[in-house]
Amino acid sequence: MARYIGSVCRLCRRENLKMFLKGDRCYSDKCAFDRRSYAPGQHGQRRRGKLSDYGIQLREKQKVKRIYGLSEKQFHIFFERADRQKGITGTNLLIFLERRLDNVIYRLGFANSRTQARIFARHNHFLVNGEKVNIPSYLTKVGDVIELKEKSKNIKAIEDALSAVVRRGMPQWLDLEKDNLKGVVKAFPTRDDITMPIQEQLIVELYSK
Ligand code: SF4
Repeated sequence: MARYIGSVCRLCRRENLKMFLKGDRCYSDKCAFDRRSYAPGQHGQRRRGKLSDYGIQLREKQKVKRIYGLSEKQFHIFFERADRQKGITGTNLLIFLERRLDNVIYRLGFANSRTQARIFARHNHFLVNGEKVNIPSYLTKVGDVIELKEKSKNIKAIEDALSAVVRRGMPQWLDLEKDNLKGVVKAFPTRDDITMPIQEQLIVELYSK
């Protein structure tokens, strides 16, 4: 599966949005988007041209894919699942993405980016309801308890991430017991819990063509 290995800051500059893909650096004055808020590449400083409807829809899809760090194939699988579910497809899609284990680890503050959360999940640092789960795309459910394994409790990167979570804030659908290094999914996220500027309807329109 193709994996993007270039600079993630270029992705923020391409999407013209601070997507917070790099942890601490995103909150520092080293943020590339804050320093150079124009598109990357040789012609990046030219005025962004007017996009066609298709172009706007495509950019929206790319943006959401990049925020959650998914490949096209993984993203499309979630879209199809969202489409099969009752309700509004775009909202279903975002809620599925939020419920992913890697996103929950990130939201709880155990990692300072979704990429780091995915690595921690794959490396078996977490238990879900006391069981080993190392699949980043695992969809959490209401009542799930996500807990740091005993042997992983002294990992400096996790300690650092937890100390920095305050500035991001904790979504109300999650609860963190910081002393016990565990988090609980209190409810499913709602559309209002997703605060990034996303127009998911554009993605639905794109895939409906
Ligand atoms: Fe994006 Fe973070 Fe890089 Fe800034 S530092 S451009 S927010 S990934």
